Amino acid sequence: MGYAYDDQNIFAKILRGEIPNSTVLETEHSLAFRDIRPQAPTHVLVIPKGAYVCFDHFAQEATEAEIVDYVRAVGDVCKMEGVAENGWRLISNAGENGVQEVPHLHVHVLAGRNLGRMLSRG
Ligand code: 5GP
Repeated sequence: MGYAYDDQNIFAKILRGEIPNSTVLETEHSLAFRDIRPQAPTHVLVIPKGAYVCFDHFAQEATEAEIVDYVRAVGDVCKMEGVAENGWRLISNAGENGVQEVPHLHVHVLAGRNLGRMLSRG
């Protein structure tokens, strides 16, 4: 099955500059910005600039340059936000069961408080 990308999603609009964002880091292939409804003192979203729906789409179809840039961008955000000392969490929701709200790949970098157990029901 192919991945259908909707270029009207909110992160596509952010990438086109149609909606403002609080940028943490911009690289050749990636953008990191603060989540509008932060769930922890540090809550940064990291997205590729390419039109990828979710992590598996990206992992299967992105170029090596995009993948390296994206993973390094996550590492740089971690460094900039100082998350290593007290710990942090990386989350990427995908599809219906993953309860993905925005259909453009993003990882959540969460830190700054105890984040509780990994999953809860509901
Ligand atoms: P998902 O549930 O898809 O994994 O997460 C989508 C995230 O995007 C949510 O945490 C939500 O708060 C965030 N979000 C939705 N719209 C906007 C927006 O316009 N700007 C920013 N910065 N974050 C947004």
